Amino acid sequence: MKTLLALIAVAALAGNIIAADEKKADKPKFTAGSCCDKADKKGEKCAHKCCVEAAKENKACEKCNKPEKKK
Ligand SMILES: [Zn+2]
Ligand SMILES: [Zn+2]
Repeated sequence: MKTLLALIAVAALAGNIIAADEKKADKPKFTAGSCCDKADKKGEKCAHKCCVEAAKENKACEKCNKPEKKK
């Protein structure tokens, strides 16, 4: 019984670690064609000051990555 409990604890711990990794890997979504999107595709980070500030918070810059408007 003790072994079973230990196994469950280990499994729960492993699950938490995986969840944390997934959170970290979650990239902000950039609007297609934006300065950030172009930089991201080159494997770089956008150098715009507003974008750098947003990236610090793991967000996409709202000024440069506006949701696509319906025409
Ligand atoms: Zn940008
Ligand atoms: Zn920006």
